[in-house]
Amino acid sequence: MKFFSEDKRDSVPGYMHFGKAGRGESDERELDGGRDSLRNKKSLKLQTDEQQNDIRLYYRALFRSWGPQNWWPARSRFEMIVGAYLTQNTAWTNVEKAMANLRSARLLSIDGIRRVRLADLEQLIRPSGYFRQKAQRLKTFISFIDQSYGGSLARMFSRPTSQLRDELLSLNGVGPETADSILLYAGNHPVFVVDTYTRRILARHEILPGQASYEEVQSLFEKALAPLAESETCAHEPSSQHLAAGLPEAPHPPSKVSVAKRTALTQVYNEMHGLIVGVGKNYCKKSQALCDECPLQPFLPRLK
Ligand code: SF4
Repeated sequence: MKFFSEDKRDSVPGYMHFGKAGRGESDERELDGGRDSLRNKKSLKLQTDEQQNDIRLYYRALFRSWGPQNWWPARSRFEMIVGAYLTQNTAWTNVEKAMANLRSARLLSIDGIRRVRLADLEQLIRPSGYFRQKAQRLKTFISFIDQSYGGSLARMFSRPTSQLRDELLSLNGVGPETADSILLYAGNHPVFVVDTYTRRILARHEILPGQASYEEVQSLFEKALAPLAESETCAHEPSSQHLAAGLPEAPHPPSKVSVAKRTALTQVYNEMHGLIVGVGKNYCKKSQALCDECPLQPFLPRLK
């Protein structure tokens, strides 16, 4: 399988290495190198354009098939943040059980997590797995928001995106996917969330290799999807036609967080992430790709 990033490495212009040649020869080679460089730049641009165009086609095909996915399933921004911590390394069904425990104990709030004893919190979120680590991490988040933002999510989310992202990434247990989920879904900041499903689909469609960096994948999606925010109509209301034609596993019902007012750009990022989760969970599984039933099947490299 040949990947674009390998092509990029192979096509680095060689004219920089010609320093020991005679002047005339050097000039000639520099000219040739300059032409090569121009050709390579053009071919890289074409590759990038093609990759971005593929992403836009995927978005349109998936949205046409399934409609809005209503991410994130949460009743409040804080609940969304707790979900982002608890969902690490576990299935969402386990997160729902832990959330239900916190809700029935009336602790699903900043003040609730602040007040509860660590040992009690551990037991309440036990169904989500890694419960000791996760309980400590939730406590760390509360300390952070108390110390830096007086306990106010509104103040926290008013920070510029890149500064808040750096702050979140400095917290124990917050990697890029968790930080970006919090920024996008709870804070309506324009960042695309990259997950395992995203990488798997890109690799299987030979758009980017599985080991591409988080930033590389994120940048590709953000560049590809930004123009759609200008041009697409993202109907936020689920239609019966979409749901009838929908996924084997139905999308989440609309939630307070999923229907929150947001910019067109954050809505497109939100929707694309939800659609990719639908592909990953229902068709593009780790051990098996059910391509014949998947809406992205026409875009497989061998069929393009
Ligand atoms: S299941 Fe097949 S067609 Fe669908 S995204 Fe995965 S590789 Fe592509």
